[in-house]
Amino acid sequence: MPGLMQDWPLTLDRILEHARRWHGGREVVTRLNDGPITRSTYSTIYDRAKQLSHALAEHGIAREDRVATLAFNSARHLEAWYGIMGIGAVCHTLNPRLPIEQLVYIVNHAADRLILADAICVPLLRQILPRCHSVERVVLLAEEAQMPTDLAADAYERWIAGRPTDAVWGDFSEETAAGLCYTSGTTGEPKGVLYSHRSNYLHGLTTLMPDVLDISGRDVVLAIVPMFHANAWGLAFAVPAVGAKFVLPGAKLDGASVFELMESEGVTFSAGVPTVWQGLMQHLETHRVRPTTLKCIVSGGSACPEALMRAYQDKYGIEVRHGWGMTEMSPIGTLNVPPDLATPAVKQGRVLCGIDMKLTDDDGRPVPHDGHSFGHLWVRGASVARAYYRRETENILDAAGYFDTGDIATIDATGILQITDRAKDVIKSGGEWISSIDIENAAVAHPKAALAAVIGVPDAKWGERPLLIVQLKPGESATAQEFLEFLEGRIARWWMPTAVRFVEAIPLGGTGKIDKKLLRAGMPAS
Ligand code: ADP
Repeated sequence: MPGLMQDWPLTLDRILEHARRWHGGREVVTRLNDGPITRSTYSTIYDRAKQLSHALAEHGIAREDRVATLAFNSARHLEAWYGIMGIGAVCHTLNPRLPIEQLVYIVNHAADRLILADAICVPLLRQILPRCHSVERVVLLAEEAQMPTDLAADAYERWIAGRPTDAVWGDFSEETAAGLCYTSGTTGEPKGVLYSHRSNYLHGLTTLMPDVLDISGRDVVLAIVPMFHANAWGLAFAVPAVGAKFVLPGAKLDGASVFELMESEGVTFSAGVPTVWQGLMQHLETHRVRPTTLKCIVSGGSACPEALMRAYQDKYGIEVRHGWGMTEMSPIGTLNVPPDLATPAVKQGRVLCGIDMKLTDDDGRPVPHDGHSFGHLWVRGASVARAYYRRETENILDAAGYFDTGDIATIDATGILQITDRAKDVIKSGGEWISSIDIENAAVAHPKAALAAVIGVPDAKWGERPLLIVQLKPGESATAQEFLEFLEGRIARWWMPTAVRFVEAIPLGGTGKIDKKLLRAGMPAS
């Protein structure tokens, strides 16, 4: 027997509609890529997103059509998301930091009809467009006066100006595709994750829970996590849903720029990858300044070093929450809230309500939740992918509907997950698994270390042994011995790296994570 509640499809346009009606005057602040600050409101964003929908429809964009964005976080990018998704088209976010080959592959695979791009992405567009034949039009998220002369494109401001604000949104099933994001393809070709309105709506609301992001209408949220990758961790839906002030930082994410924006806008909450938090910490320490309004940051995307969490919590009184997730999960899977500021949330936390997870050994047998036993991590739920875009016939789930995350983890008796490695990064020494993440965490706590990475290198006796690669802080020098002595007592003895290499810069991939594939390619065997 069906329930007797109203038919109210969970489509994402309703979130912005809600923000317009009940938080219409709340500010959305952007720092443009070239520096200036612009101010808008949810009400204005709503109207302009509707104008964009009108322009898209006039161009012939209809339901299911893919419209790409190639842009940093800004109010115009937010308008683009809602303007595209509102009419049932698919907003395909392109990561400007991906290699050209991958971008070309992704645009062609998705058959994007339009690209809405930031003006600073013009050099990139020049390189990819000749090979992207599905693209009919490029619109630059810019004023007419900022248009380049040597690229056939429309200026967004001119394109939407004067158009009606009554485009029809919604009126389709909540299962309709809303967004498309490709995994970065560190293994094999990039694969498209096709979010639905329902999956993003539910994920966005779930992230607002107190033990997840705990964002309220009183907050000022700085979204450092990019809108071009992994759904901006759901912030573009969660933040308008509660009417918090939204600060969108554009492309400049160095410590000084982030600090300045936090102070000038009164930011209380922010989310980003550990490298961003590392950069901000360096700025705070070098310039002896303190954030005055910031209360909580969320770190995710790769393991957040314990020393960094301690520094934020002990010295600055800023709570560091630690999250784990992936593109295929919309993306947040678990979140760890420190019990108090004296205790860093080193592990990645408890699974969100609405997601189910399990650990298995290599043969698919359950692994105990004892906090020590490592296993393959599997997930299922309303915000987890069941297939990749245009590869729908490939089964990516096990018989019980679980998706293999490709991560290796432990779960303790209280249900708290810890990621020990990606399956492809795990180091197998004498038949036992060594966690590269644990060694990296311990090494980066060395006062001279800026970044640390551990990879497995072939070893005649043990199969593989860990090699520690260190990027020192500017102006520092150190010896291998210094680091090995520092690790003593901090990691199991048999995990001790066989060698330490110092490098100028540890390579980071398109999403700000350490590129271990590149490191492995460049390092000789021990
Ligand atoms: P890709 O980089 O391949 O596009 P994602 O951006 O979706 O993929 O990254 C997901 C992966 O990032 C996870 O499977 C996990 O390995 C890693 N990851 C994410 N958050 C954390 C974290 N807090 N600690 C350790 N690893 C993490």
